[in-house]
Amino acid sequence: MTELSYQTDAYLQEFEANVTAVIADSRTVVLDKTAFYPGGGGQPHDLGSLLVNGVVYPVDKVKKQGEDVLHFLGGDAPLPAPGSASHGTLDWVRRYKLMRTHTALHVLCGTVFRDYGALVTGGDMEPLKGRMDFEFETMRGDLVREIEAAVNREVAQARDVRVKILPREEAFQIPDLIRTKINLLPEGIQQVRTVEIVGLDLQADGGTHVRNTREVGKIRVTDYKSKGAINKRIYIEVE
Ligand SMILES: [Zn+2]
Repeated sequence: MTELSYQTDAYLQEFEANVTAVIADSRTVVLDKTAFYPGGGGQPHDLGSLLVNGVVYPVDKVKKQGEDVLHFLGGDAPLPAPGSASHGTLDWVRRYKLMRTHTALHVLCGTVFRDYGALVTGGDMEPLKGRMDFEFETMRGDLVREIEAAVNREVAQARDVRVKILPREEAFQIPDLIRTKINLLPEGIQQVRTVEIVGLDLQADGGTHVRNTREVGKIRVTDYKSKGAINKRIYIEVE
């Protein structure tokens, strides 16, 4: 089982951990804890490196498998032994861009729900670029400009972003979380991690976010597209 350090400290760039398992076929290692985000909720996995016994292994891919986080090691150096101490380092430039982008997308969905009552049906992101699908019947250029102005006003409000881990029962009492389809969470999950942009948006979310919307910077709505009668896609970029 891997302790998910990124869930409680998104700003952790380096960490110490022990190798608990090694899978030679896939060149993967499991650590007892990690700051590497394994991907999910539209946010791509992190990249970086792992230093073990003087060898620097590139971390090319990270994936959650059950309770473990698998770190895929690049290069061709012999794999470390289970029980080894390691030092992990994230590609922080990339990760911080993803944090700003992820928070920008939550600003977008919070603003669009507040102003138009439109729910999100999906989303995806890469560093400094993202897209989100909304239940909108019509989307026009002037509406897009209005949304762009509104999201930048919210960023400028310098709203705090708060992460909490709540017992399932408590989370299920929160109306905003019910709206974002918390009821789709699997039965077995006893704790729900929530990300709140204070005064704007609250969702169940596993991703990494900046502490305050002022860190997001300027958001540009770059395009929009119809994805069906009641589905409209909005593309954003963060400068
Ligand atoms: Zn999210």
